[in-house]
Amino acid sequence: MLTRIELEKRELEELAPYAAKARLSKGRVWPEKEHEFRTAFQRDRDRILHSTAFRRLQYKTQVFVNHEGDHYRTRLTHTLEVSQIGRTIARVLGLNEDLIEVISLAHDLGHGPFGHAGEEALADRMKGHGGFEHNQQSLRIVELLEDSYPEFPGLNLSREVTEGMKKHGTVILGGKKTRFPVLMEAQLADIADEIAYDSHDVEDGLRSGLVEEGELADLEIWKEISSYISRKYANISEVHRRRLAIRLLINRQAQDLIQQTKKNLSSFEIQSLSDLEKCSKRIVEFSQEMKELKKTWRRFLSSRFYNHYRIVRMTEKGKRLLKEIFTVYIEGPQQLPPSVLVREKRDGLYRAVCDYVAGMTDRFAQDEYRRLFEPYERV
Ligand code: MG
Repeated sequence: MLTRIELEKRELEELAPYAAKARLSKGRVWPEKEHEFRTAFQRDRDRILHSTAFRRLQYKTQVFVNHEGDHYRTRLTHTLEVSQIGRTIARVLGLNEDLIEVISLAHDLGHGPFGHAGEEALADRMKGHGGFEHNQQSLRIVELLEDSYPEFPGLNLSREVTEGMKKHGTVILGGKKTRFPVLMEAQLADIADEIAYDSHDVEDGLRSGLVEEGELADLEIWKEISSYISRKYANISEVHRRRLAIRLLINRQAQDLIQQTKKNLSSFEIQSLSDLEKCSKRIVEFSQEMKELKKTWRRFLSSRFYNHYRIVRMTEKGKRLLKEIFTVYIEGPQQLPPSVLVREKRDGLYRAVCDYVAGMTDRFAQDEYRRLFEPYERV
């Protein structure tokens, strides 16, 4: 029998000394009895997986608005890719796979509908009312908004998870401010996110026809991969070529990350969790060479893909309708469902509306827009 006690023991024996261990967890805000056969981090993962916010990721925009096509990444498939890439690398490095899985699965929960455009719309409407930022919203969801337990608000996750989710915020440790999370699992989740979207956005760009392969020819990393494929395969279909290129792209980044991280571990003399806490440098990182390659690659994605007029039209439309929905609620709060109005008492009208709108999927927001603005649509 592999009970929790056994699993915790295994972690202590088998994981790297600088890996997070469930047994050494700093615990939860609301103390709970430990589970019989799941470690604290496994339990956290399951709480995320079964949450309402997680299921909504299925109909939230990654880059393409949900109804544009069935094969593009959504927030949900992106999230699963982040988790898979993160776990693979974590295993190589001897890190805690369960922990990286939780942080990955939770990392985008706070995104509103229509991706970054939606975030801009909410930030605009929340100006002077506390603002809106998706990472903070992810935390707000797991700490307050998810409502499944009679004993506490939110999901009452382990502190390692909530600290790991503060990836862009400042975390204060031992009186020092750091700009990144201390635990390597959290640092890795952050970079696995980058590996996933930088790679799959190339694929979705190509697949959609908004980006053509010829345009990628200027990118060093693409040149390298593309000449490798041409050397190795004389006749290869376009689909196989594209799929292979994306696999190689992910693999190249993963290898680079693992090697550089190993170097950092030895040059910063990281042999334990407390060494990690004292270290002011980020350990999980790409090499300088890869950082340069990624800089031009990202510039490319931003100018040719994210700012492609069709993507901009898609997301601007989302932004516009979100702002209008928001304004309707603020001007006439009685149009809000009672469950939202209840929150007004606790958080004020703006924050209650913001949480409600941020929680919407693309699909729900589009339907709601129709209900509110189309004269012959039933409300
Ligand atoms: Mg992400």
